[in-house]
Amino acid sequence: MAVIEFERLSRRFDGQDVPAVNDLSLTVADGELLVVLGPSGCGKSTLLRILAGLEEADAGDIRLDGRSIIDLEPRDRDIALVFQQYALYPHLSARDNILYPLKVRNVAQAERQTRLGRAATMLNLDRLLARKPAQLSGGEQQRVALGRAIVREPKAFLMDEPLSNLDAKLRTHMRTEIKALVQDLGTTTFFVTHDQSEAMTLADRIAVMSAGTIQQVGTPDEVYQHPANRFVAEFIGSPPMNLLRARADGDHLVVADGWRIPAPPGGRQRPSLDASSGSGLTLGLRPEAIRLSQTAEPGALAAEVFLTEPLGSEVIVNIRLGDEIVKVRTAPEVRPAPHDTVWLTALPGGVRLFDRVTGQALAG
Ligand code: ATP
Repeated sequence: MAVIEFERLSRRFDGQDVPAVNDLSLTVADGELLVVLGPSGCGKSTLLRILAGLEEADAGDIRLDGRSIIDLEPRDRDIALVFQQYALYPHLSARDNILYPLKVRNVAQAERQTRLGRAATMLNLDRLLARKPAQLSGGEQQRVALGRAIVREPKAFLMDEPLSNLDAKLRTHMRTEIKALVQDLGTTTFFVTHDQSEAMTLADRIAVMSAGTIQQVGTPDEVYQHPANRFVAEFIGSPPMNLLRARADGDHLVVADGWRIPAPPGGRQRPSLDASSGSGLTLGLRPEAIRLSQTAEPGALAAEVFLTEPLGSEVIVNIRLGDEIVKVRTAPEVRPAPHDTVWLTALPGGVRLFDRVTGQALAG
């Protein structure tokens, strides 16, 4: 069992206006793969480094299974790190690299061999154990680095962009391997990345981070379908959520060019909608939450195609709405030409609303 709790953690580097980590609280559940996702410079590596004991916090606490570890030396924290730079010893074989943490901890010889055997089988490294790092591909080196973390049998794994040195194909492959590995081992894993598709595919839950604070924590579906604010709506999804200026008009939302969209029913959002009385709203629609028709449909908005982006399995159609461009995801055979007229309908379940001033979601 390994629950990690960050409590009101802060770290400000000299000369920084905004702390790298700003009064941050977060709990990683036992056996969970939690991905911290955020743009470059948002403070995610600093958070991981404080958890590892490589960086000091100015304030706050970190508990592992209820016990504060903030004052412990890195080696006493019982957590294993996997970095972007694999940091393998070049003069040691893959076998000796994997065994190294057990050697320095004086684990008994027989136990060392048992753990090595298990990790090598799990990571498909059996035939590569005699090779030095220079004789291994990037993906193989990363598997050795994972092996070195696994044999320690730590309470938690900490991974800082461990896949970013790999090419796109290998990265996708290693993503699946890491997910399967963590599922098999059931070890709590704290994984840091700026890559939203990596976060979506790997995570049990994603913590979206910006400017030192957590913006939202939720399952990939929750953060995708119900972003807590505009930052999350734009950071997650490719292409991101369309965000359009809108005003309320009775039971409808009106977007530029007179597109009238039925407001989502009741719930928490209706009072806010009324309060905003016609101004100050941002309407959010994922590219797949808009139906595009090439023939006129009742109630649909006629609009002009700007350009299409075919992506093989889907097409992104860019449409001009006033001075804004809306992106719509369509089936691959739907290929309207630039300047064609198409008809747009917002799908009722996909309408999201944000306060235009604070950026916070109004929908429940
Ligand atoms: P990246 O994805 O680029 O690694 P990150 O989200 O991991 O970014 P951090 O490395 O945690 O971000 O850095 C957060 C902020 O703190 C940045 O503004 C960075 O410049 C600053 N920072 C990090 N380490 C130090 C340091 N040792 N001294 C001064 N400022 C630092």
